Amino acid sequence: MTDLAAVLAASAATHGHRIAVRQDGTTLTYTQLADASARLASLLWKQGVRPGDRVALALPNVATFPVAYYGILRAGAVVVPMNPLLKAREMAFVLRDSGARVVVAAPAVEPEAAPAAAEAGAVCLIADAEEWPAALRETPPMTARVEQAPEDTAVILYTSGTTGTPKGAELTHRNLVSNAATTAETLIRIGPDDVLLGALPLFHAFGQTCALNAAVTAGATLTLLPRFDPAEALRILHRDRVTVFLGVPTMYTALVRAGVDPEADLTRLRTAVSGGASLPVEVLHEFERAFGVTVLEGYGLSETSPVAVFNPPDRPRKPGSIGVPVRGVDVRLVTEDGTPTAPGEVGEMVIRGENVMKGYWNRQEATAEAVRAGWFHSGDLARVDEDGYFFIVDRKKDLIIRGGYNVYPREIEEVLYEHPAVSEAAVVGVPHATLGEEITAVVVLRTGTQATPDHIRDFVRERVAPYKYPRVVQIAEALPKGATGKILKREIVLR
Ligand code: AMP
Repeated sequence: MTDLAAVLAASAATHGHRIAVRQDGTTLTYTQLADASARLASLLWKQGVRPGDRVALALPNVATFPVAYYGILRAGAVVVPMNPLLKAREMAFVLRDSGARVVVAAPAVEPEAAPAAAEAGAVCLIADAEEWPAALRETPPMTARVEQAPEDTAVILYTSGTTGTPKGAELTHRNLVSNAATTAETLIRIGPDDVLLGALPLFHAFGQTCALNAAVTAGATLTLLPRFDPAEALRILHRDRVTVFLGVPTMYTALVRAGVDPEADLTRLRTAVSGGASLPVEVLHEFERAFGVTVLEGYGLSETSPVAVFNPPDRPRKPGSIGVPVRGVDVRLVTEDGTPTAPGEVGEMVIRGENVMKGYWNRQEATAEAVRAGWFHSGDLARVDEDGYFFIVDRKKDLIIRGGYNVYPREIEEVLYEHPAVSEAAVVGVPHATLGEEITAVVVLRTGTQATPDHIRDFVRERVAPYKYPRVVQIAEALPKGATGKILKREIVLR
């Protein structure tokens, strides 16, 4: 299969009557999804959208998302997904930077999307769940096939990447089709009877490839959760007889904390997939005990479509490891000057293969810096064991250097998660006059538990080398999180 729209067409031909997408009371079969997206393609064509043009999306995880996503692709245009929580000026930046001609927005997003579109000279189409189906019914579906080459850009994903300002990672049809197929065929092994719970935002790489595109590749059902909430997720796991749950670590923490309702029927749940940030080993074990399924952790980035490394289902999964490189992908560890690291040493992960982006949209310099001789430089530090399993040590930029010693926050966070009262933890470096940086831990306690900062500090001190334990421990009500639920260390306000 060469392009994403063709993948949907193939599933509609084979699995037409099966449910592709479910969101509360709304269901769309594969025939309906293909038909609605072909109608949207006509509507976009009428707005002047032509192959290669950029069309932005500002939608939460609602049933109109897949219709709009595949509609844009069906017209041969490029999807530019945006977080629907962005403010007008942030949206205007993405619209201008990508040169989007149209933005498709949810009604709730209109107050920000409409002025952003006006400023950037784009048309704002409101995708109203009530009125939209009628509008689409009046538009005849596009019948002409728009040929897309594997190297054509399908999606531009805005990401801060490893350095500063947001840039658009240009992902081709080949990147996305192959990564979704690898996920569906070899990693999660999805079949038409599977029901995936997409609690992950679809505008982000993880949700888009591993939930939406992988489900469509396999002719499976994707059930959507517009906003993650553990009680709601549990209700849907039960109601829709979900077979595969995909989430980021903070979702696992929240589910473990909420506990399983003994009435809930989770017998169909067979696999849970974690990615996007490191899953604390303690949380992995607790989730596996409570939900009775194996958690498979994988690793990727927007720039790698996203899956690069994954715990394969046919080998024992290693807790704390992100697994082995996936089909069609090579991963190496390199030192600062680009030479391969010695066995057992920590190095930066560099990635090469069919999943690596074409480049950053209109950013030649940033592209040349990130992709060198075909190897994408991830900015993540890792080590590899004798079986070829990779372990993320930390992000390069999160490394704390205290008095000349390297301290990897992740290692300390793992210890904090072992403390029975700790529900969430983040370790950060704060500037220090003589040491360069000092280590501070911020923790959220489990409801109903008590622990003093000194007690938590001593708990870590007993378990790690003296230079590594946090000298300061602060207890917070919550930790700042990004749209996917990743903990945003740079936004933590220390007291
Ligand atoms: P994004 O482009 O938003 O998907 O973010 C990619 C970043 O998420 C990577 O550079 C990693 O730092 C982080 N990440 C993704 N998966 C994992 C994982 N399993 N363990 C640790 N970090 C991860």
